Amino acid sequence: MAKANPRRLTILGSTGSIGVNTLDVIRQLGGSDRYEIMAITGQANIRLLAEQAKACRAQLAVTADPSLYNALKDALAGSGIAVAAGESGLQEAAEAEADWVMAAIAGTAGLAPTLAAARRGADIALANKECLVSAGALFMETIDRAGGRLLPVDSEHSAIFQCLTGDHRAALERIVLTASGGPFRTFSRAEMADVTVETARSHPNWSMGLKVSIGSASMFNKALEMIEAKHLFHLRPDQVEVIIHPQSIVHSMVGYSDGSVMAQLGVPDMRTAIAYALTYPERGQLDVERLDFTKLARLDFEAPDESRFPALRLARTALERGGLQAAVLNAAEETAFHAFVEGRIGFLSMAEIVEEVMDALQTFENTQGLDAVLAADAQARRQARVIIEKAAAA
Ligand code: NAD
Ligand code: MG
Repeated sequence: MAKANPRRLTILGSTGSIGVNTLDVIRQLGGSDRYEIMAITGQANIRLLAEQAKACRAQLAVTADPSLYNALKDALAGSGIAVAAGESGLQEAAEAEADWVMAAIAGTAGLAPTLAAARRGADIALANKECLVSAGALFMETIDRAGGRLLPVDSEHSAIFQCLTGDHRAALERIVLTASGGPFRTFSRAEMADVTVETARSHPNWSMGLKVSIGSASMFNKALEMIEAKHLFHLRPDQVEVIIHPQSIVHSMVGYSDGSVMAQLGVPDMRTAIAYALTYPERGQLDVERLDFTKLARLDFEAPDESRFPALRLARTALERGGLQAAVLNAAEETAFHAFVEGRIGFLSMAEIVEEVMDALQTFENTQGLDAVLAADAQARRQARVIIEKAAAA
């Protein structure tokens, strides 16, 4: 059968957890018969990046690490696949002529390439929540101006997107983000004080990259998601609720003005959300586990405890203060996360550092240019590092 204009796709962050799942979804939904892969990007794992590039016949493969350019070039020698590296390489990947771009680079590093893809008017499947947290207004405005669609991939936001039919948008009253509570849901603060990275990363329900896994344990992931939701769905801070739901079966909910609540359910598998972002407004045929209601013993819900999980309170503070406080929260949290992973600070110190940095940096004016966001981001990181050094020296 002749190919009918394959859809052109780019995957930023193809070697990560979301990236690997995205390539699997693309394969399941028709592979090269339906899709053409314009570019894929990774960083350190050159072997996987080269393997992926060959398997999906990408036109361009990019490593974010310029020192690995030659290694990638060697790994792809004779394949006909173009190779690039570093920031300019990421930019090249973002600017390739794709109709749909998966934004799955972890952290603030994803901001510039995702914005570049959005500026071109591509549809953006957004996994990278940091884009919306630090530069929400700028990002939404860029998407609107260029005319692409913004398709949420984060499972909670995909759930809301699926529950929020256009006809009922005006009747939306609130959204309810579900949170598993992570591995420390029942821990006291004293018990959380000396947990290790290994226990913190062992998420009970989802298999994810390191940053999201630790963020689930501290609930900073949910904090970022509250801010993400506010921008994605144009909400007021008081319309964003969080509920603990340990089974992760209800992925999130939308409450309407007539008291009705719509929920989206499924087994915890990111491929469903990724597929919806790819096939929207239609649905594809996906080989993932089906929910068996006869085996679901129960669905539990409990109120989050902000004294044990201060991340949620900090997200609300950032939303209420507005301006660049969310960018500050995000940068301080990323810095504290690295310090925790490197064993330099304890688990509970992460939230303490974020709070201290947010309180210290409230003076940014409410401008939304990329330069202002990056300046706030850099200053928050510096401030967080100073606090971390002081704590380490004490
Ligand atoms: P991951 O750590 O598994 O993968 C990250 C990807 O980004 C890799 O391809 C890596 O090579 C690349 N990368 C890392 N640092 C980079 C840098 N400095 N420059 C360029 N590329 C870099 O992460 P993940 O779990 O796949 O998450 C990706 C994004 O999706 C994150 O923003 C995360 O919050 C979000 N997300 C993930 C999940 C999940 O289930 N994994 C769920 C919801 C949202
Ligand atoms: Mg999520």
